[in-house]
Amino acid sequence: MEFDGSVLIKCRRDVKPVTEFETNLKMTLHCQQCITVLGDSFSICGEVKSMNAILCTKVTDDVVISDAKQFKQKGDLSKCIYSSLKCRSCHMVVGKVIHSSPSHLAAIRSIFLLHKSNISCYILNSSSMVKASTFSFDLMGMKDSMSEVKEQFEAQLGQMSRIKRILADRSAAM
Ligand SMILES: [Zn+2]
Repeated sequence: MEFDGSVLIKCRRDVKPVTEFETNLKMTLHCQQCITVLGDSFSICGEVKSMNAILCTKVTDDVVISDAKQFKQKGDLSKCIYSSLKCRSCHMVVGKVIHSSPSHLAAIRSIFLLHKSNISCYILNSSSMVKASTFSFDLMGMKDSMSEVKEQFEAQLGQMSRIKRILADRSAAM
């Protein structure tokens, strides 16, 4: 068999370490202990660094919300009422969901917070399993595209104002 250099190049590109969460990166989220599927990248909407948690709008039926409500007086979840999220298969606590919180945490109420330290990610693009703690789930890509859209809108607004001025000048001259 002849040596085919293109295969090596392809492989090297495939194993490129990805640490920043890319919005086009497809992955499933798993319980680190028993590998049960708990969610996927379509429902990831960011992370809370101080809580070391991935924010998910949806999780699978294998994530069980504990009936017991907890209340904390101190720490990150001070004055919050929340429930633990458990893996249905191995019963390990994999995260929490906040039911009630002070206003500074209003944005993450009712969103599933999966503890990065208890989650593994299966990256579909590279068929590899990695710890969620090796990723940053900050949606930088989304922030970038939002500012791009804003720039485009501003450019269009500028152009429309120019057209409006020209039309106003013409009608004044008539
Ligand atoms: Zn489990």
